[in-house]
Amino acid sequence: MLLEEPAAGTPGSDQALRLESVTKHYVSPGGSVTALDDVSLALDRGSFTAVMGPSGSGKSTLLQCAAGLDSPSSGRVFVDGVEMSGGTEAQLTKFRRGRIGFVFQHFNLMPTLTVLQNTTLPLRLAGRRVDRARAVATLDRVGLGERLDHLPSQLSGGQQQRVAIARALVTRPRVVFADEPTGALDTRSAREVLALLQEAVRIDGRTLVMVTHDPVAAAHADQVLFLADGGLVGRLAEPTAAVVADTMTRLTEQVSGRRVSEGV
Ligand code: ADP
Repeated sequence: MLLEEPAAGTPGSDQALRLESVTKHYVSPGGSVTALDDVSLALDRGSFTAVMGPSGSGKSTLLQCAAGLDSPSSGRVFVDGVEMSGGTEAQLTKFRRGRIGFVFQHFNLMPTLTVLQNTTLPLRLAGRRVDRARAVATLDRVGLGERLDHLPSQLSGGQQQRVAIARALVTRPRVVFADEPTGALDTRSAREVLALLQEAVRIDGRTLVMVTHDPVAAAHADQVLFLADGGLVGRLAEPTAAVVADTMTRLTEQVSGRRVSEGV
């Protein structure tokens, strides 16, 4: 239930995110698709996990279900030990705003709001007091303390993504979900963004889940989870870009080989 807090010290209370047998079917005119098939996982607080897999393997669906943006067909999702179900849509939204942060590939900043206004927006939406000093400190952390009154259009892509990171962190969320956060950036900006995400984990103890196609980005995580055909098929601790790239190549070959033999 959304409103029940777990008691400290109960089993699993050090987990920031837990999925129990999560399955998601989509019904479309062509028939039913199983986008996630019985996925279970548990992520500790203060961990950084990358999620990889061939196109269509269920990465976006996993992120959507884990973040409470979509509901599983079956199975359960717990954030910070609290199950994300059983409440109204309004309660779910409030829960998400309090505990979850998002970083998207294309930044998703409000074009008419300044850097500072974009950063404080989640606090305003959550009805929380807007602590200007905290927002400015967060923007200082991402190197944009001098750009408070700029509009997104006056910033580079890398700078816009850094605003988006400040916006995701300002509420001090338990879990941050990042969907291809470096996908639209040049190599140098990508490196800066990954360093900031790592800092949020190492220094602030945030828990980060990042979907990425990029083995170099994935190598910044503590572990990589590999998805294929809606299921978890592998886990790599202390990943290096080379081993991640090899694993992805093998997985993609296996999946396309299977599709050819199945006549897909
Ligand atoms: P990925 O992010 O790894 O590319 P997705 O989670 O987007 O994978 O998709 C997994 C599977 O679910 C794919 O077969 C995709 O076509 C299907 N799918 C995703 N979203 C929908 C939807 N809204 N309606 C129908 N099928 C969907």
